[in-house]
Amino acid sequence: MTQEPKRTIYIDGQWRAAADGASFVVTDPATGEVIGQAADGGRADTEAAIAAADRALPAWSGTTAYQRAAVLAKADALMRERRKELAALMTREQGKPLKASMNEVAYAADFLAWFAEEAKRIGGVTIPSARADQRFVTMRQPVGVVAAITPWNYPISMLTRKLAPAIAAGCTSVLKPADQTPLCAVATVQLLADAGLPDGVVNLVTTTRAAEVGDVLLESPVVRKLTFTGSTAVGKMLAAKAGATLKRVSVELGGHAPFIVFPDADPVRAAKGAALVKFLNTGQACISPNRIYVHRSIYDAFVATLDQRIAALRVGKGDHEGVSIGPLIDERAVGKMEAQVHDARAKGARVVAGGERMQVDGLDGTTFYAPTLLADVTPDMLISTEETFGPIAAVTPFDDEDEVVAKANDTEYGLAAYVYTNDLSTAIRVTEKLRFGMVGVNDINPTSAAAPFGGVKASGLGREGGFEGIDEYLDTKLVGISI
Ligand code: ADP
Repeated sequence: MTQEPKRTIYIDGQWRAAADGASFVVTDPATGEVIGQAADGGRADTEAAIAAADRALPAWSGTTAYQRAAVLAKADALMRERRKELAALMTREQGKPLKASMNEVAYAADFLAWFAEEAKRIGGVTIPSARADQRFVTMRQPVGVVAAITPWNYPISMLTRKLAPAIAAGCTSVLKPADQTPLCAVATVQLLADAGLPDGVVNLVTTTRAAEVGDVLLESPVVRKLTFTGSTAVGKMLAAKAGATLKRVSVELGGHAPFIVFPDADPVRAAKGAALVKFLNTGQACISPNRIYVHRSIYDAFVATLDQRIAALRVGKGDHEGVSIGPLIDERAVGKMEAQVHDARAKGARVVAGGERMQVDGLDGTTFYAPTLLADVTPDMLISTEETFGPIAAVTPFDDEDEVVAKANDTEYGLAAYVYTNDLSTAIRVTEKLRFGMVGVNDINPTSAAAPFGGVKASGLGREGGFEGIDEYLDTKLVGISI
């Protein structure tokens, strides 16, 4: 049976099939069931999308901040109205539990709301000159056409985190979402159109041909900015390619978050926090703790509580009642869990909970992995250096502050870190020494549309959200005026 290729490419306000007619299937990661089709865009589609964004730029960048804010505010309202249907789609396409999808849609809308406001605060400054007959002022202007490449783990909020500031700044965009989650991108782009975004301001190329589409975007001199969220390996490669045309670059990449519990902290509270943030999105989050360091004096109490919390987690299909852990995105991800656990076991880690694939709800068990607790993890184990991106908590005892800070910083990554202590001095001292972009102090969720998200070292460049988020989409123009 041949099917009409899906029209999921959006260029200049038109939904289209791929120029060469190629398409791909979209599956439910919990069951492998086909849930839809998407157009498989290539070079011609990407070139057309860039051209549309370029044509739309003069008019869009010439709108007032109030006009752009109005579109974003309408999009925010529509996203909250459509919250349930977007969440249901997300759960089907990405697998996360419905409640987590509901939370993500609200978080995604928060970026629309935040940048609707920030659009009105794009201002410049006046600068005193050394010459009496001269004045300086700065203008902040949109960088131009933006290429946005997004991941599957947060398939709507990562889109609004990039598109909302681009729209607010007066930029136009070409979005290339992950091939696992094109339908969430289609729903988001349709929502922006329904909110009154003019044709060509946001264009969408769904594709499995990531390298081909990526190369067209990066080689184009018209595209002035790359914003990417994904793996460090791909992000480094894309940033290097963007260098050839000197594009502005912001990349949010992998992490390997340390989670440090000092002896004065309550081990029960800390373990509860660790369980919540570790198993968020089934561990498929770049801010997920990958190394949990607990002071030896409270180590056993911490491990026992974490074990209890893990026992209470319910694994299953995301749309089933009470489920808090969904499937991993694909079989390859499960293979990575197996490899890390096998390696840790062989090197002496204790498997306190989990440690194997799971069969749930009568499904074949190809994408479910049991929430796992590894104790006595050592630095030579794969899990101590490689990003896990899955439901494995790796715990290690420590004895003193300098030792644990050195260990925490001993990673190429620098995204999130967590510190549990009731001592103010320890909190400040350690936070200052941690080479990470975000630190949660007795807090497991240092993220908000109002706060700057981003990393240092191999975790990325630039900040998303907060006051800084819009800067990534603006160039400063200096104007010197003789009077
Ligand atoms: P993950 O391993 O989590 O899927 P990736 O970095 O591979 O992370 O993917 C993040 C995004 O980058 C996705 O949209 C993916 O399609 C895209 N991507 C992957 N490889 C390339 C590439 N060579 N050029 C452009 N985009 C790419």
